[in-house]
Amino acid sequence: MKYLICDVCKKTIESPVKDRTLFHHAHVDICLECQDSLDMYTRRHLRKTEAEHRPFDFQWYNDFFMDTLEKAVQRGKVDLR
Ligand SMILES: [Zn+2]
Repeated sequence: MKYLICDVCKKTIESPVKDRTLFHHAHVDICLECQDSLDMYTRRHLRKTEAEHRPFDFQWYNDFFMDTLEKAVQRGKVDLR
């Protein structure tokens, strides 16, 4: 059976379906659970700092997202502070 390991929580993703049970960012593969946590975290942060990023800077958001992801990979979890 085809499977992948989530780069953040190290859980096994069986028969991964791209953008449904597996999410690919640059060189990192993550599961749905971690993707949801990451989305929640980045969205919450975005709301808090919205005024500083007007007009919306997609490059900044992308860098922020990837930075958060890299940290999550190092810690083995998405930090939801
Ligand atoms: Zn995961």
